[in-house]
Amino acid sequence: MSQQFIHEITCPQCSHKQDTILWNSINVTVDPILEEKFFNQEINYFNCEKCKYSAFINMDLLYHNMEKSFMVQYLHDARKEYLDQFYSIQKRAEESFSSVINVPNMHKGYNRRITDDMSRFMETIRTFNEGLNDIIMHIFKDRVKSNFLDFTGTDPNLYQLYFIEKTNENIKISVSDEQSKEALYEVPISYYIAVGDAINNQFNVDLEFNHWFFVNDYNVVSFFNGL
Ligand SMILES: [Zn+2]
Repeated sequence: MSQQFIHEITCPQCSHKQDTILWNSINVTVDPILEEKFFNQEINYFNCEKCKYSAFINMDLLYHNMEKSFMVQYLHDARKEYLDQFYSIQKRAEESFSSVINVPNMHKGYNRRITDDMSRFMETIRTFNEGLNDIIMHIFKDRVKSNFLDFTGTDPNLYQLYFIEKTNENIKISVSDEQSKEALYEVPISYYIAVGDAINNQFNVDLEFNHWFFVNDYNVVSFFNGL
């Protein structure tokens, strides 16, 4: 279910007061228009009607796609205390919901992710929307980083890789450094498939990760290194 509320915001530039709709949760299956708004950066943005100042309102947001069976939670603050609170609220909600409708595995087949990084949030949504596996995507990007990119003289850890889109033949990823200088790379989709096959052959794990999982490249790569 999509959840919104109205909040009066004072423009930091011109002090104009304006009611703004803010969203805690968007269900893009029930409200497809919200999907469009989300990708147009119209969800949780303040746009001053007087001076045209625009800013992102940094608050928690759940993106839920029932048709493609995934949820991604953006947390504006993911310090341990806040994250623990999130997990316990989710656990209670899921327990009470499954006891009411008596479905013990109600989220089986559902991918659920959490992140505190807005770029990662968008990336995860794009990945699932394209029907790709985000766990494979993280390992794929790690391999791309070590095999395809030349970091001579710089530290590869300073660079962030994000999935952008899938074409018929390629996977497009952006590579950005700390100064947010960005470059686009295209890697053949066959390489993504090969990485997926290699993980499946090497590790006996379910790559669906049907539970709440705090997602970033480091968490995924270290998970597989630890197996
Ligand atoms: Zn203004």
